[in-house]
Amino acid sequence: MASSKQKASGNLSLTASVTQFKGVGPALAEKLARLPIHTVQDVLFHLPLRYQDRTRVTPICALQHGAEVVVEGEVEHAEIVIRRRRQMLVQLSDGTGSLVLRFFYFSQAQKNALERGTRIRCFGEARETALGRFEMVHPEYRYGEQAATPMETALTPIYPATDGVSQSVLRKLTDQALEHVDTGLLPDLIPADCLPPSLLNVPTLGEALHLLHRPPPTVSLAALAQGGNPAQQRLAFEELLAHQLSMLLLRQRVQSETAVPIGTNTETGAPSQNTLRRQFMQALPFQLTQAQQRVVKEIDTDIARDWPSLRLVQGDVGSGKTVVAALALLAAVECGQQAAMMAPTELLAEQHWQTLSAWFEPLGIRVGWLSSRVKGAKRRQTLAELASGDVALVVGTHALFQEEVIFQRLALLVVDEQHRFGVHQRLALREKGQNSGISPHQVIMTATPIPRTLAMTAYADLDYSVIDELPPGRTPIKTVALAESRRADVIERIRSACEQGRQVYWVCTLIEESEMVQCQAAEDTASSLAEAMPAVRIGLVHGRMKPADKERTMAQFKAGDIDLLVATTVIEVGVDVPNASLMVIENAERLGLSQLHQLRGRVGRGAVESSCVLLYKNPLGEKARRRLDTMRRSNDGFEIAREDLDMRGPGEVLGTRQTGDMSFRVADLTRDEHLVDAIHQLAGDWIEQRHPNIQPLVKRWLSGAEKFSSV
Ligand code: ADP
Ligand code: MG
Repeated sequence: MASSKQKASGNLSLTASVTQFKGVGPALAEKLARLPIHTVQDVLFHLPLRYQDRTRVTPICALQHGAEVVVEGEVEHAEIVIRRRRQMLVQLSDGTGSLVLRFFYFSQAQKNALERGTRIRCFGEARETALGRFEMVHPEYRYGEQAATPMETALTPIYPATDGVSQSVLRKLTDQALEHVDTGLLPDLIPADCLPPSLLNVPTLGEALHLLHRPPPTVSLAALAQGGNPAQQRLAFEELLAHQLSMLLLRQRVQSETAVPIGTNTETGAPSQNTLRRQFMQALPFQLTQAQQRVVKEIDTDIARDWPSLRLVQGDVGSGKTVVAALALLAAVECGQQAAMMAPTELLAEQHWQTLSAWFEPLGIRVGWLSSRVKGAKRRQTLAELASGDVALVVGTHALFQEEVIFQRLALLVVDEQHRFGVHQRLALREKGQNSGISPHQVIMTATPIPRTLAMTAYADLDYSVIDELPPGRTPIKTVALAESRRADVIERIRSACEQGRQVYWVCTLIEESEMVQCQAAEDTASSLAEAMPAVRIGLVHGRMKPADKERTMAQFKAGDIDLLVATTVIEVGVDVPNASLMVIENAERLGLSQLHQLRGRVGRGAVESSCVLLYKNPLGEKARRRLDTMRRSNDGFEIAREDLDMRGPGEVLGTRQTGDMSFRVADLTRDEHLVDAIHQLAGDWIEQRHPNIQPLVKRWLSGAEKFSSV
């Protein structure tokens, strides 16, 4: 047992393998790695997802829907019944009220033990039924003497777990790690005088971790759930600081790389004549808005540098981001370089390809196309042309990321609708040009408005531009909300729009259903609409169609050969058919504001007045009503985003969790916005001073992200 003695010794390091802990052998270590927990430090930072309060008993009369609580009482009655499924119902009463425990899986022995008069203590989620009674489905329970054991003394942490790693294993591990914290394992990397005043009376990092792993019963569960506990704030501050520092380091590293200055003729060094651009602008049927011109200038300044720039261009749906991208791409081609444009979906990428081809082919510029569906000889040819430089411009999906794609001299990359790509993908792309020792400039386009302070934190490695003006002559979209019962009126409206040569979208949305169910619903809708309007030419696109079929339908719609396009939300992003002036969104009450706004943005792109019908099913909840009202009232993406923020609260809106862009352990960019100024200030100071704690801090918080820790 020599090894266990060794394990018990005090001099453990943070980076030591988790196998240094008692009870962790190679098999468990392998399972822990999935969480991912590799080191002692990973254990410490593996924070509970949530907590349960098993420190007190809640009287049945005080139950609240959705609360997880301990209840104690006596069995009044237990029976097995067969409603849709065989189940055991146990009626429990504690003198203040009664509660039903419902079990779908149970043994006869279980049933026998739960006879009338048996005392039970159970833990579970209280649910209020339609009849106003409370029940618990499959609660944990103990009966008889077991029901009388002492209550817990701390809130129960619930950790992110995985197969073979139970809560109790994680609790034992964190117990051990916390013991080591007490003996000085975890140095404080932020001196107290660097903390903002609001955090000064907050415990050290070690104490903060203690509190979060084992909160005393006096701590407010609600505050913990909201991340408002001072210990969480202390950690959030440290995490955001680490993140900001890593971003600044990344930026420094990027600035030390080489990019091709665009806007100068690389051969002669003379300023570019912008011949192509002038030709392009002359052929363009409209003039750029002031906002577009400003952003073009901002991009021009960036890309004229000899280090790789990164700019985020945010513009509301329909603000005209594509043409701004096109001008940047042209500038690159003009000075003899390669440029690429990438979009997150096949449909959107394809649209860009068509738009750019139509714009550029008259100028003698061929636009290449690459997606995962381009295969065989075609693919080989495109790859060869990119590698030789025969094709100067290419549009594609994430297929452009792939290793086999080699550019001869990629100088500029435009990424559309960036919120679907993460930081890592961005970096992978930046490395694309590096075969030739240069890195491309990058312009990233997004329609999602992000509050500026957040943008600076979330994207500290980017510059930020906003196209805050819509092209002129757009008549605002008129939006109405109609109950599903008015479907016949809506159909009438579609018929008359189509008669007048307008085109219409009908969007089928089913949230939380499988894609298959969604597509089926779209098919059903299309055929019932076809029945109702035999004279209307109807097309259908959904996610499970063959790409070629989808493409053909989109092309027909664009060409005006289809009047009514029935679609799933595949059309959410970027599809551009200016003649479409009516949109019907089914089940609108179930969609979020930003999704509704994105969808609605598919109309209102031409000069004719457009309208949007939000079809909803009654009864409408309060929030749904507010969302529909907001949509009726406003066409302004910023205003809608603000309302969204207000209603849903932060983290959700930014979608930082889903993007994988930044997976924070504790911090929440919107919730913790008040910390941002202090963090910026401190990070800037530290970088300037080359503070010795920068590296350890970045390592501590971003160790999983090699790209960052290697900077
Ligand atoms: P988004 O910003 O949503 O990507 P698009 O680039 O698709 O918007 O532009 C929407 C529509 O507006 C397109 O049909 C485009 O040709 C047109 N457009 C862009 N800029 C202008 C402008 N300055 N004046 C008139 N129409 C414009
Ligand atoms: Mg777009």
